[in-house]
Amino acid sequence: MKITSAKFITGMVGDIDILHDHIPQVAFIGRSNAGKSSLLNSLTNSKNLAITSKTPGRTREINIFLINQSHYFMDLPGYGYAKASGAELKKLNELIAWYLFESNTDPKVVMLIDSIVGPTKDDLGVLHELERSGKEIVIVANKADKIKKSHYLNHINKLKAQFPGHTLIPYSSTKKIGIQELTDELLKED
Ligand code: GDP
Repeated sequence: MKITSAKFITGMVGDIDILHDHIPQVAFIGRSNAGKSSLLNSLTNSKNLAITSKTPGRTREINIFLINQSHYFMDLPGYGYAKASGAELKKLNELIAWYLFESNTDPKVVMLIDSIVGPTKDDLGVLHELERSGKEIVIVANKADKIKKSHYLNHINKLKAQFPGHTLIPYSSTKKIGIQELTDELLKED
């Protein structure tokens, strides 16, 4: 499978009609700086798709992209957004939680973790909530180019062991690792 078109539709901060138009949704989540913008750009072969999500104002929204006229990619704010104040952080976390758990949608969830750092406490907290709510979860071990070549398989297997029951895909935007595998995983018919 190949991504042939990717178009910014809108940003949202609450319920909107297109959430319920039966086009399958894929939600991308992860800590700030996990490389989510770079991943969205490399996955959709676009230089600046997710720049839209990074422009001031839009970092506090869920940004929706229509992919191949068949799926929505939902770019959620990074959790632990460093530049946000306490009150803003609370609002962002509420938006994320509302969309994932209360919006009556059933997105497939792509969670980005850093291959070198591994899952953080925040990552595992969100993961357990997602598991409890029965979401389909794909783990992306991002920045896989930073893993030492001599340890690569061993390192990936150790990461996989920390996510039993979930697909884990090594990925690198800089070295173009995992693009085809992740595309197939996200666009396949269930
Ligand atoms: P976001 O905050 O999650 O949207 O992350 P960005 O896409 O802005 O990336 C955060 C930082 O990680 C930047 O310095 C990127 O250059 C770096 N980065 C992103 N993807 C990769 C990758 O695949 N490999 C490496 N080595 N660095 C990456």
